[in-house]
Amino acid sequence: MSGFVTLVGAGPGDPGLLTLKGREALGEAQVVVFDRLVSQEILNLIPADAERIDVGKEASHHKVPQDQINRILLEKALEGKRVVRLKGGDPFLFGRGGEELELLREHGVPFAEVPGITSAIAAPAYGGIPVTHRDYCSSVHIITGHARAGKALEIDFEALVRTGGTLVFLMGVSALPHITRGLLEAGMAPETPAAMVENGTTPMQRRLDATLATLTERAAEMGIHSPAVIVVGKVCALAEGFCWLDRLPLRGKRILVTRPKERAGTLSRKLRALGAEVTEYPCIETVPILPNPPLERELEAISGYEWLCLTSPAGVRYLWEALERLGKDARALGGVKLAAIGSGTAGALAEHGLRADFVPPVYDAAHLGQGLGALATGRVLILRAREGSQALTQALEAAHVSYTDCPTYETVYENPHSEALVKALDTFDFVTFTSASTVKGFVASVGQDVDFSRITGLCIGSQTAREAARHHIPTLVAEAATIDALTELACRAAPMCPPLRTGNGSFPEPEKWMKARDFPDYS
Ligand code: SAH
Repeated sequence: MSGFVTLVGAGPGDPGLLTLKGREALGEAQVVVFDRLVSQEILNLIPADAERIDVGKEASHHKVPQDQINRILLEKALEGKRVVRLKGGDPFLFGRGGEELELLREHGVPFAEVPGITSAIAAPAYGGIPVTHRDYCSSVHIITGHARAGKALEIDFEALVRTGGTLVFLMGVSALPHITRGLLEAGMAPETPAAMVENGTTPMQRRLDATLATLTERAAEMGIHSPAVIVVGKVCALAEGFCWLDRLPLRGKRILVTRPKERAGTLSRKLRALGAEVTEYPCIETVPILPNPPLERELEAISGYEWLCLTSPAGVRYLWEALERLGKDARALGGVKLAAIGSGTAGALAEHGLRADFVPPVYDAAHLGQGLGALATGRVLILRAREGSQALTQALEAAHVSYTDCPTYETVYENPHSEALVKALDTFDFVTFTSASTVKGFVASVGQDVDFSRITGLCIGSQTAREAARHHIPTLVAEAATIDALTELACRAAPMCPPLRTGNGSFPEPEKWMKARDFPDYS
């Protein structure tokens, strides 16, 4: 039986620009054949058991020739596999998507195409350039600047100039002098606004504003490289007013997000939406303590407790796993009151249909202990990590509340000493820490001997900051122990860093930047 091939457009770089249909196809793929320009986040959506074939390793000069790609698609489909051919931008726009379908059609292999967001429109858009605007043009033209091997560029510059429309050139970086000369010789005004957007829609995006006469020289000065789009036309003059990306408060900032391996990347997502270039560095992992007869004993005897106290979403997860092992469900907790350290843990309880009876105003162990100390008249069962903070139990003891501290899981410091990270540590503006254990995990993995005075740690709370201070990491502390407050802290701290590692000439001044902070809704 023959399989099925879906050509999927991965979009121009920003992983958020993959279509829903593209993501669906990817999630069901058994084989994925992908190109160089597809982002890592999108590649992460490929099912773990799917075969991945990288046909775009240009750096090592192993780029797979087109006819071989066509044969790979055919072969895998004839094996009966669901194949996704993942391509940058839109597969049918200078993407050779048509060529890849020809062989499949000859062999009667069924296929489909999922269009993608093309860089020809999205890269200008992220640079603040709408490719059409009623006041300036009535057409847009997308042209390749790539000549077939051994041939000269085949562009009818006179015809293009006559249209008066916006001109977008793809694959045009090396032919830039030919393109600008061609347009000038065909009579286009030298002062016509022109722009280039390099690495469009990615955190490394740079835009160059110029005129047709100055574009080539300015591109050489700025060292613009492929991938970049060239835009020529009056709409380019709108960029300065519309360059929304450059106004994002974390634009140009590189942030290392240390986090537990299994936690969803909410923080990363928020930071990226505010313009940051985020690198995730999972360095701790929680593992349940198994077998765990004491935990099972306490759960069997839960009716003897007044309160059940949870200090992390992981604790909630392992509680549920333990209940399941005992053949129980949420009803086992029927008579007991629930305390959660913060909104994340309360949220994890809510997923099981349970509302926390107590969440302290400040999300840390000390406040949890003080609050429970005042409320509890009976016994408290604490389910948490083996090495949990003493602040909780000390507060309960001070209030003469009797408790059982039952180790439920362990924190393992993951991600062995990473040389690559240590080398790149200077290039990060911030490192985020969402718990004291992420600090411990980070230090354990990069090594004690590293000079941490060069980084700035953004800490979710005072306990986390204290742990960071123990390792001489300069820190800033969020106003509340929430992901939103941590994100806000990054925005407030951003103007303190030297701006713009990406070197974009048109970057706003810090004062404007601070105002721009109010622009997106990150609450
Ligand atoms: N099918 C793709 C284009 C493939 S041709 C699409 O629809 O986007 C490759 C060219 O696309 C590059 O030379 C460059 O001109 C452009 N390109 C691709 N990704 C880009 C990006 N992120 N920023 C700017 N240009 C990009």
